[in-house]
Amino acid sequence: MSMLVKPQETLDILRRHQFSVQKKYGQNFLIDAHVLDKILDAADIQADDFVLEIGPGIGTMTQGLCRRAREVVAIEIDKELIPILKETLSAYDNVSVINADVLKTDLRGLISEKNAGKPVKVVANLPYYITTPIIMNLLEEQLPLHSITIMVQKEVAERMQIGPGTKEYGALSLAVQYYAKPEIVANVPANCFTPRPKVGSAVIRLTLHDKPPVDAKDASHMFRLIRASFNQRRKTLVNGLYNAPDLHYDKEQIAEVLKDMGLSEDVRGETLTLEQFAGLSNRLLTLNKTYDTLK
Ligand code: SAM
Repeated sequence: MSMLVKPQETLDILRRHQFSVQKKYGQNFLIDAHVLDKILDAADIQADDFVLEIGPGIGTMTQGLCRRAREVVAIEIDKELIPILKETLSAYDNVSVINADVLKTDLRGLISEKNAGKPVKVVANLPYYITTPIIMNLLEEQLPLHSITIMVQKEVAERMQIGPGTKEYGALSLAVQYYAKPEIVANVPANCFTPRPKVGSAVIRLTLHDKPPVDAKDASHMFRLIRASFNQRRKTLVNGLYNAPDLHYDKEQIAEVLKDMGLSEDVRGETLTLEQFAGLSNRLLTLNKTYDTLK
């Protein structure tokens, strides 16, 4: 078991390196052995796996990953943590630490260089201030990923799993469910971290689909519709799409398509399923084609 996960060990190493915790980087270090094992088990790391860790912190989870996986690459933004990681990971020769912002890292290049472009497993206790951009980036880039097992704020985990007709349902739910199967694995209270976060946390595993569950002819067009309808949640879908600067449909066209789908023209985006968004997108695209050929 990782010794680092013991609260006293974590505090000692931080003190010895005179490290001050950076709130701006969302630093909450895991100090609960049981939760650590839960994450590692949920990630289902096999001896031949290549694992990408985002935000290793002082290396608590990284040590466990190094023991289970063939190779680990960990991306950490805070340069003050690099000497600490050098120390805590010195016993392992299957890990490399990259001092960089994960949102500015060429992950496709990294996976192709280090794992010959084959699917990797992502494991992370994510910094909460950029959870959504990190997840959206991993999914929308369509990187070769097998699964993403992450600790996130509890509400965000719930948003990823939820379906239509609730106020938590939104663009994140639809993106996650289009690309992956989400499963909440554990709820984690604030006292499992130092410093304690102000919110409850949860571990969620996203297993990437081999093939999306719905047939969207142009996924990026479908996600433009989704974003437009949730950007203006209180408006009807017709108005939300009509007002979107990156879409060019008139109200009658949208209403006609909705009618064709058996939906009311007053419907709100938040009531549509992923399948209905795909249907809406495919039908609107056909309109565009007809329009283009007429021009
Ligand atoms: N994995 C450690 C653990 O479980 O104890 C630390 C988790 S802490 C919640 C989040 C980590 O992500 C911190 O080490 C923080 O410095 C790092 N981080 C924050 N923003 C980042 C970014 N944009 N790119 C890479 N790492 C980042």
